[in-house]
Amino acid sequence: MTEQILRKFRLDGKVALITGGTRGIGLATAHAFGQVGAKLYISARREEYEDDGALLNAGYDVSFIPADLSTRAAAKMLVESVIRDAGKIDVLVNNAGVANAGDSAEFSEEDWRIVMALNVDAVFWCSQAAISAMRSGGGGAIVNIGSMSGIISNVPQNQVAYNSSKAAVHMMTKSLASELAKDNIRVNAVAPGYIDTEMSRGGINHPIRGAIWRDMTPMRRAGEPDEVAAAVLFLASDASTFVTGEVLVVDGGYTTR
Ligand code: NDP
Repeated sequence: MTEQILRKFRLDGKVALITGGTRGIGLATAHAFGQVGAKLYISARREEYEDDGALLNAGYDVSFIPADLSTRAAAKMLVESVIRDAGKIDVLVNNAGVANAGDSAEFSEEDWRIVMALNVDAVFWCSQAAISAMRSGGGGAIVNIGSMSGIISNVPQNQVAYNSSKAAVHMMTKSLASELAKDNIRVNAVAPGYIDTEMSRGGINHPIRGAIWRDMTPMRRAGEPDEVAAAVLFLASDASTFVTGEVLVVDGGYTTR
């Protein structure tokens, strides 16, 4: 029985694209997917991806495709190149994201657009580009990385664009899940709390901000990227075949208060 259950977490024969797969939560997810047998594609803005060999030389089937996902054309091109290369796409993880903060009265149009273009628009355009191929392949799983910031309003920093963008991701997840269930395409989101990555490390290590964040988290610590990756794997795999439209919170209890 246990062995059968564990087999449901495997992704053998599945083609998975992880946007922003070169560091942080995306990289941890890439390792998780690689370990369970996925054919992996990762993407980020840089032209070439050379890490310390940890991912590329781990024995996984992994390819890197550069893309700045700030435009619809780039998002479409990325997903289409995966489909062209692999012949299909089974799993799409919309992970690439960006955060900024500032007083709302002075928030610039550029700062607003940077966040919305990647955190909201790219999630939709990548998903849209994957739908037809998933439909003709008999189904698929889309996992969006939202945030607890789509549920609560973080303090002490003001980050109206980021919070709004992640609330949009959660609603997009539910809308797409409702629409695409008939095609056997499941759409779910993971909503992390503070995770120790390049995006949040400055705040986590900040003497005042980090202390506030920890005080507000019942588990009194930041999360690790692989604690999010495990939730992404659950939602991407056959371990969650009856789960769709869910926003799975991984936040050390932050949103319980
Ligand atoms: P990181 O900043 O560590 O990684 C972000 C990834 O996205 C990198 O691979 C980066 O590569 C890529 N990326 C950034 N901008 C673009 C772009 N315009 N086009 C394509 N790729 C891009 O972030 P995290 O791992 O922390 O975050 C991953 C996701 O998790 C994000 O959606 C984030 O909002 C969310 N999240 C993170 C939390 C945290 O505390 N860390 C908490 C809650 C949610 P490159 O710069 O080379 O393009």
